[in-house]
Amino acid sequence: MTKISDKEILLLREIEQLQSDLAAVNRTKEVPTMQLFNSEERFALAMRGASDGLWDWDLATDEVYYSPRWKSMLGYEEGELANSLNTWTAMVHPEDKGFVLKKAQQYISGEIDSFEVEMRMSHKEGHEVFVRSRAFKVTRGSNCETVRLIGTHVDVTRQKKAELFDKRNTKILEMIAKGKPASEIYNEIALMYEERHVGLRCSMLELEGSKLLHGGAPSLPKEYCKAVHGLENGPEVGSCGTSTYTGKRILVENIATDPKWVNLKDIALPFGMRCCWSEPIKNSSGKVLGAFGMYYNHTALPSEEESNDLISAARLAGIVMEREQNQKRIRELAFTDELTRLSSRNHFYLNIENLVKKCARNQRKFGLLYIDLDDFKNVNDSLGHDAGDLLLKQVAQRLKEACREVDYIARLSGDEFAIAVYDVVDEYSASHVAQRCLELISKPVELAGRKFTPACSIGIAHYPDDGTDLQAVLKAADTALYAAKELGKNRYSFYNQELTDRAEYRFKVEQYLREAIEKQQLSLVYQPKIDINSGKIISVEALCRWDHPQLGQVSPVDFISMAEQIGMIKPLTEWVLKSACHQAMLWRKAGFSAIRMAVNISPSHFLESDFIPLIKETIQETGILPSDLELEVTEGVVQTSQENLAIFEHLKALGILLAIDDFGVGYSSFASLKHLNVDFLKIDKYFINDMLTDNKAKLLVASMIEMGHNLGHEVTAEGIEHKEQFSLLQTLGCDSAQGFFFSKPVSAKQMPTLFDRNFAE
Ligand code: C2E
Ligand code: MG
Ligand code: MG
Repeated sequence: MTKISDKEILLLREIEQLQSDLAAVNRTKEVPTMQLFNSEERFALAMRGASDGLWDWDLATDEVYYSPRWKSMLGYEEGELANSLNTWTAMVHPEDKGFVLKKAQQYISGEIDSFEVEMRMSHKEGHEVFVRSRAFKVTRGSNCETVRLIGTHVDVTRQKKAELFDKRNTKILEMIAKGKPASEIYNEIALMYEERHVGLRCSMLELEGSKLLHGGAPSLPKEYCKAVHGLENGPEVGSCGTSTYTGKRILVENIATDPKWVNLKDIALPFGMRCCWSEPIKNSSGKVLGAFGMYYNHTALPSEEESNDLISAARLAGIVMEREQNQKRIRELAFTDELTRLSSRNHFYLNIENLVKKCARNQRKFGLLYIDLDDFKNVNDSLGHDAGDLLLKQVAQRLKEACREVDYIARLSGDEFAIAVYDVVDEYSASHVAQRCLELISKPVELAGRKFTPACSIGIAHYPDDGTDLQAVLKAADTALYAAKELGKNRYSFYNQELTDRAEYRFKVEQYLREAIEKQQLSLVYQPKIDINSGKIISVEALCRWDHPQLGQVSPVDFISMAEQIGMIKPLTEWVLKSACHQAMLWRKAGFSAIRMAVNISPSHFLESDFIPLIKETIQETGILPSDLELEVTEGVVQTSQENLAIFEHLKALGILLAIDDFGVGYSSFASLKHLNVDFLKIDKYFINDMLTDNKAKLLVASMIEMGHNLGHEVTAEGIEHKEQFSLLQTLGCDSAQGFFFSKPVSAKQMPTLFDRNFAE
């Protein structure tokens, strides 16, 4: 129950008297105007002198009489406001308007038998005034029709603010008790004091070393908070920088003129801040943890109430800050390995558990590397524990270098480490990281004045392939680590043996591929392309071969993609292009002049800026006519980005012929074909294979040929192995064909015997 003041009791008595007078008036059939006037007079007189405002609403006309006190309560002079309901409507808080009017309606209609509301109204100067309004109705006639509402306004702002302050205070204590994030509590503290003082804006800064860090300032502009964040404190660094430095309260009455703000006023004045008072925030033992700042948009020093609030606000913020720092320290101790500063075992478990949940939700994979130093015990035994510690620190540093920023590293115990490799795209993502770890760790290090070459073994497991929960993945990684040790240490092993074999093979291929060009292990074979109508060879496609002394023949399907990944594709393409064009020139000189040379280009290389210069260089060096050179690219490149289109245009301008290879199995072909200027579409072997047995495949081939022609392209069919396929393609109007039926890819030497042959006969 709200307590009624003496003044209110007096007022109520007056109103009661008035009500009974009015009731008496209403009981008579005719309204005696004079009598009512007198009553109102009395009422008005009663209100005068009281500190309450009066309003009188004529329900028929919506005219409202507002007493001088009603107006002055909201900052207005007599005569400043119109006598209409709109005056009130414009000044009441939009959120409160609805329920006040509803309550009035209910009261008028008799649904409720009293009217008392609290609402927020806006003061002329912009701030809110909390108003309690009570009213009674004036009725007329025998049916007691309500014609007017007469009511009072009492300013209950102070009372209301005190209530809100108490509520916020309780909420803040609750938040502290529940361990809510400090930043949320800081905001709540700021809002609590801001609600109490019109125009006040608060900030809390944390001190880290000598730097001021943003803690909370919900009402200050973001740009200002950003500018202050990271400032070094000092004897003359604004109010908060100075108060954290001196440990004393700093009151700046005028930011514009105070010497402490000389270097900072330009970031505060544009946002309207004119004064700033700062109280250092201290912990229970008196150490400065930060500062509480109060800002106003006018120059001022604090009143007694504001001054007290500044102290209590800083104290409250201090409780939160101290708790926050303690927790941070506890977390650090629990979650950081003291020696290496990597994550601790505890943190590792927590993190991986979360990672498992996240990956389960998003159906993603991650790789887990278990790393154990080889023969670490010997280091401790022979060089001492200090040397052992030094090595562990070195290893931690090297592991960080081996990982990408996103990967997660922890030290599990003694010489055991773990790495979580996020976003693994294939089985090699984790093995690449493992490989880098092996390489970096095995660099020599100086320990106790002696050169020492460390080594480690690594077990790799994948979530979810090798285990669908934390324990299972850890166990799989551990098993894999054991396998790596068994296999001779200083290496990695997958939990899945097949992956280990594949990774090993791939690793070897990578190593060998790097020297393949130099050691002249690459060669080219050529496969003719036949004009369907004349049966004559019109061009040959150069296909790369790699013959390695140990690995034997490696398929281009394997080594081309690897060359792309290890950055070998550029030298490889350069070698293929120049060798093929050189060969074409040799054939031309030998009299086979109508033969063009087709070279496959990797999409990734095709889009590089140095590709066109390479083509120009090849033409210049070998002397091949641009119109004798065909470049084959797969559909992947045929995305219609502006850069891609420009490359096509540029090559066309040079006079080179272009083909879309493996057409139909990629994507986006149709959209891209609309823009691309190419000469040939090479229908993928996939469609040709089934064309005789599957009617759909046949229809697709027929459609591709027709569409290609309509768009102005020549159409080639790849992978013809049977005469029937050839005949069908002739019937369908295909332009040229390629495949084992005519010839397998053959060496340059064998080629001339094919040049004169007619394949249509
Ligand atoms: P591609 O450009 O589509 O070449 C056609 C592939 O199909 C060749 O395989 C060829 O030997 C094979 N082929 C041709 N006719 C038939 C047939 O009737 N039946 C069957 N079963 N196969 C046929 P190859 O030489 O193994 O090359 C595979 C892929 O490797 C090529 O596909 C091309 O994408 C890539 N490639 C080869 N050499 C190079 C090169 O120098 N640079 C680049 N970037 N890629 C190359
Ligand atoms: Mg090709
Ligand atoms: Mg192809």
